Amino acid sequence: MADRNDCTTHHLDFPDPEGAEFPQPRAYDAEELLQPLTDILDSASLNARQKGSIYEFVTDYVIADTGKMTAQEARDIIEVLLVRIDDYFFKGGLTQGPIRLIRLRVLDESRYLLNGFYLPPTQYYTGRIVIYLRDYISGRRRATSDILTTLVHELAHAYCGIFFNFCPVNNNRDIVMANGGHGILWQQVYQAMYTHMRTWDPRLARVGIRTPPAVPFPFVRSYYDFMSLNPRFRNAWDVTDLEPWEPRLLPNPRWHWRPARKEMFKRALLRMTFEGYPHFLSTRVITPLVAYRLYRAYKYLEVLTRGVIVASTFLSVVAAIWGFWQTTSGLRQDTLIVWDLGKRVASSELSVSEALVQAAILTDSFSRSSLPKSAQLVISISFLLSVSFIALKALTQALIPFSA
Ligand SMILES: [Zn+2]
Ligand SMILES: [Zn+2]
Repeated sequence: MADRNDCTTHHLDFPDPEGAEFPQPRAYDAEELLQPLTDILDSASLNARQKGSIYEFVTDYVIADTGKMTAQEARDIIEVLLVRIDDYFFKGGLTQGPIRLIRLRVLDESRYLLNGFYLPPTQYYTGRIVIYLRDYISGRRRATSDILTTLVHELAHAYCGIFFNFCPVNNNRDIVMANGGHGILWQQVYQAMYTHMRTWDPRLARVGIRTPPAVPFPFVRSYYDFMSLNPRFRNAWDVTDLEPWEPRLLPNPRWHWRPARKEMFKRALLRMTFEGYPHFLSTRVITPLVAYRLYRAYKYLEVLTRGVIVASTFLSVVAAIWGFWQTTSGLRQDTLIVWDLGKRVASSELSVSEALVQAAILTDSFSRSSLPKSAQLVISISFLLSVSFIALKALTQALIPFSA
């Protein structure tokens, strides 16, 4: 490969901002790629053309509401923003040159652990930026500022990936490719872009800031790990596995599919659409946000239930003593029972099923005793809480791996 290296195309000067020339793929050193961005950041005053571009961008951005638009409308407005950003920062090199180097794909769906991605161009395929309109945690449409952050992030990938020279003599691929494509050059380009964009308008103050996830990342991961064990989903995915038979396209349009072959082809398409099991799974189970809320409710109720059991035991002991003094006789037996049960409830490492049995016994014995109504009410409430706690625990255990 070394003899095919041509350094005359590797170390060019980035085109002058006012000139007509477009940047060329694989042609620039890192300093050259960074220069136009740092120039913009350094310059105290922008020229009239730049101010006009900023005004147009902001005008388009403020009418965009990717939460409410149809997928097509959202796609159209994101395309406009993409071209404007390319125009402003990269001299239109990605979208306006002799051949368009980047296309946009916007999908009204969520993707397992992803907001969007950049697909580099190949000899046969135009480069692509893919953006998901939906959040993979809640399943809801993402806010426009989040979408813009993803767009800027992916555009920084496209800029570095396409225009950096990757010169084998310099051998500093890592400047772009380290850390999954988030090398130092990418970081500086991305940061320069959003830092500058934030000065355009107060409504752009959140560009480059990712909304903190509503569900902790480890929960999302273990939730899908747990769900992936479900044989129902596993079987549905396994029938899409056609590795032994590669579907062939028919050479003559008048020939017909053999039914079995057609079925295989459909499955192969299904597998291509989902690419991997986690993504296939994420389209078939409730979102992690719903599961997380159930899990949190269970945790709160667990603490609450233990508190109520201890408190009601204490109260019924007090009530029993009070009743003993009031009636002077007949309650000695009840008091002893309550005292004994109370000690066991309060001191032992009480399991949930034990709590239920204890509460049931207490309720039963109190209903026949002459204890005050208030004490019976407290016991009944703790009984009801125990039941709902057990029901929620069962539900959560069916959904979530670490509720043991
Ligand atoms: Zn070179
Ligand atoms: Zn990235």
